[in-house]
Amino acid sequence: MSDLFQYLVYICTETRNNIHMNTSRTVLLILTGGTISMISDPKSGALRPADVNFMLKMLPELHELGIEIKVEPLLPMVDSSDIGPNTWEKIAFIIQKNYDSCDGFVVLHGTDTMSYSASALSFMLEGLTKPVIFTGSQLPIGVMRTDAKENLITAVEIAAAHSNSDAMVPEVCLFFEDKLFRGNRTTKLNSENFNAFSSPNYPVLAEAGVHIRYFPNFIRKPTENAKLKVRTKTDRNVAILKIFPGITEHTVQGILNIPGLKAVVLETFGTGNAPTFDWLFQALKDATKRGIIIVNKSQCIVGTVEMGLYQASLNLLNAGVISGRDSTTEALVAKLMYLLGENEDTETVKKLMETDLCGEISKS
Ligand code: ASP
Repeated sequence: MSDLFQYLVYICTETRNNIHMNTSRTVLLILTGGTISMISDPKSGALRPADVNFMLKMLPELHELGIEIKVEPLLPMVDSSDIGPNTWEKIAFIIQKNYDSCDGFVVLHGTDTMSYSASALSFMLEGLTKPVIFTGSQLPIGVMRTDAKENLITAVEIAAAHSNSDAMVPEVCLFFEDKLFRGNRTTKLNSENFNAFSSPNYPVLAEAGVHIRYFPNFIRKPTENAKLKVRTKTDRNVAILKIFPGITEHTVQGILNIPGLKAVVLETFGTGNAPTFDWLFQALKDATKRGIIIVNKSQCIVGTVEMGLYQASLNLLNAGVISGRDSTTEALVAKLMYLLGENEDTETVKKLMETDLCGEISKS
């Protein structure tokens, strides 16, 4: 063995040993499924979730981190297209049950609806003082060029990271490729590249390179003596109405008259504009008068809604539409379901929709 090779082995061993010595944390891994956990079906060739043991066998490195890993699978593991309020509730209760015995939580989740789930959990876990890190991957964990291992291992390190006795990131976050984002600010932008997510209107919370660099100024601090309170009730009577050139009255009325409808995320143009047709103004005004909450969200990914900047959005303001400002559609849908589930009255929900509850919206 050459001296150089021996020296490299020594350095690597020492680095590993330091990690062992510096950590005595426990992280709970909640497995929900997603590409990260998938194998191809021998018959159809389509990707489907494998079993939990297969996943864990693929990850021997996890045991070398010096962090105690506990695993809680949510069976059956699924494609995240099948995840909604029921699974959000289950994740929240698992976190509650293990809250005192774990330092942090990593939720393995498909990327397709990860931003919805991370948003929902940010509202459901009130008074959170520990990290809840969502992650997944674009390639299954068993594939040679997979991004799964790096994403998962770094997410576990972040979930365990502390400064003195405080968690580095006491928030619901999403880690992907090399960036840690606030979960309720994310959106899936790319179905092909490893950098699948973006946080268009809020800075990253940490970046993982040779070291993990945290940006404390952007990380939410829990209020003093915060205690976890889990609120999982949701109301699904929410719809998304995307405005497009040529949209008909029939389409708009079809959505606004869905039986039981309580709230709509109205996806508009630019800074929050919509056609100035009389019929549209009337349809929206009638709906808000019936108590339906309509929230204006721009179809632009970056930027904020500014109602009243143009006549085309002043109309919406006059019809009783409220502003979603720079929130994502994912956060608005989850927030509406959560607030309506809490049985708040219409005026309170409208007020809270324009209030920052857990970093999902910038100050006006
Ligand atoms: N369809 C998969 C899912 O969301 C995609 C992924 O995980 O990347 O479960």
